[in-house]
Amino acid sequence: MESDQRMISKIPFYDVVIVGAGHAGAQTAVALRQQAFAGSIALMGDECELPYERPPLSKDYFSGEKSFERILIRPEAYWGERAINLMLGRRVVSVCPEAHTVTTKRGETIGYGKLVWATGGSPRQLACGGRDLPNVCYVKTRADVDGMRSQLSELHNIVIIGGGYIGLEAAAVLSKLGKKVVVLEALDRVLARVAGPTLSRFFEAEHRAHGVDIRLGIKVKALVGSGQPYGDGRDKICGVETEGSGTVPADIVIVGIGIVPAVEPLLAAGAEGANGVDVDENCCTTLADVYAVGDCAAHINSFAGGQRIRLESVQNANDQATTVAKVIAGKTTSHNNVPWFWSNQYDLRLQTVGLSSGHDDTIIRGEPSTRSFSIIYLREGKVIALDCVNATKDYVQGFALIREQLSIPSAQLANPAIDLKDAARSSSLRVSA
Ligand code: FAD
Repeated sequence: MESDQRMISKIPFYDVVIVGAGHAGAQTAVALRQQAFAGSIALMGDECELPYERPPLSKDYFSGEKSFERILIRPEAYWGERAINLMLGRRVVSVCPEAHTVTTKRGETIGYGKLVWATGGSPRQLACGGRDLPNVCYVKTRADVDGMRSQLSELHNIVIIGGGYIGLEAAAVLSKLGKKVVVLEALDRVLARVAGPTLSRFFEAEHRAHGVDIRLGIKVKALVGSGQPYGDGRDKICGVETEGSGTVPADIVIVGIGIVPAVEPLLAAGAEGANGVDVDENCCTTLADVYAVGDCAAHINSFAGGQRIRLESVQNANDQATTVAKVIAGKTTSHNNVPWFWSNQYDLRLQTVGLSSGHDDTIIRGEPSTRSFSIIYLREGKVIALDCVNATKDYVQGFALIREQLSIPSAQLANPAIDLKDAARSSSLRVSA
């Protein structure tokens, strides 16, 4: 009956329509086929590129060390071989949950059996004047990075607004390329949203040692044009006017101040949510047959003290993609994996396990001046997260500490001569004795 109606309406129909061909969307399609799901799949994305990994955009793709082919999530042939219909260059602008259809900006309507919303987020824009000037850039897509790279030889003064991971990674790449880089951060330390002060101070010192001018507590007043027509005839940026700290010269401004989840069409269709779309443990939204995964999915996370959060990480995108694929394939599942994240800056590999928000104590394991150490975050005596700088062993062994919620004596945690797994073992023996 249902399929008859579909034939009569002549609307293209897929058993699963995935909106957003980024990390979470592409991985959902991959995971569906891995789960032996035999139904039809459409993967719709507004970018025109094959699905690719975003982390290298501010790291080795930006620096030119990795080609685009090397950051593809799967080679081009994969999608056709697995009968996954890639519908690129399509922006979905509305969802009709009653009719089970989505409509694109071009006016195409596509029917779905199940809909997976995987749209990530758009870069948060500055609120000040001058934000539309040419050469105000973001690090979000391949096109953004290719645009910046194509003019690098003409750029000397680079201002980065925002001292989060993306801003700092871009600063590391650009300073290594010999550019004069200034980072303007509104708060009193970099990485304030994601890490404790010790890690912030460490990275500030590292960047300054590499010649990056890190300025803290700086409020941006306006982006200033030179009055000279540029490219398309518009004014060209020449500086960033700050409150109380003068105007910083700029040939280009890179803005890295977070993302805004791209969930408008879904919320307009009646799905619950605010900062993202709300999902349950199976990634179901409040709309029937509609799921959400990745950066846009606000879920209850036990590692965040049971709060509803969005995680902007590859690990979360992959885990939620696997969960939703299993659910759609009719398999039982539950995922409650410890969150993890990484960042590369210069020769430093930061690996984070757990979520440090809400910590009430920290322990430094090792000596930051050696450039190999870990910061352990505790809440009520239990380890909730580790930031490990060039300390992969701590990172790997840290998962168990967080998962098992052990209380380990501080002296053992602080002593790099004692492996964390041994500290955990002696602690669990003490508990069971
Ligand atoms: P995205 O990968 O952003 O994909 C969403 C896609 O949906 C985009 O292509 C978007 O254009 C498209 N879209 C949006 N709206 C629509 C619509 N209405 N219709 C059709 N398509 C739409 N994570 C880490 O764990 N480690 C890192 O080191 C790291 N570094 C990063 C560096 C950069 C520069 C960036 C930008 C992110 C980084 N991340 C990192 C975060 C990680 O890349 C994201 O968490 C991950 O890509 C999330 O996947 P997603 O599919 O939810 O969103």
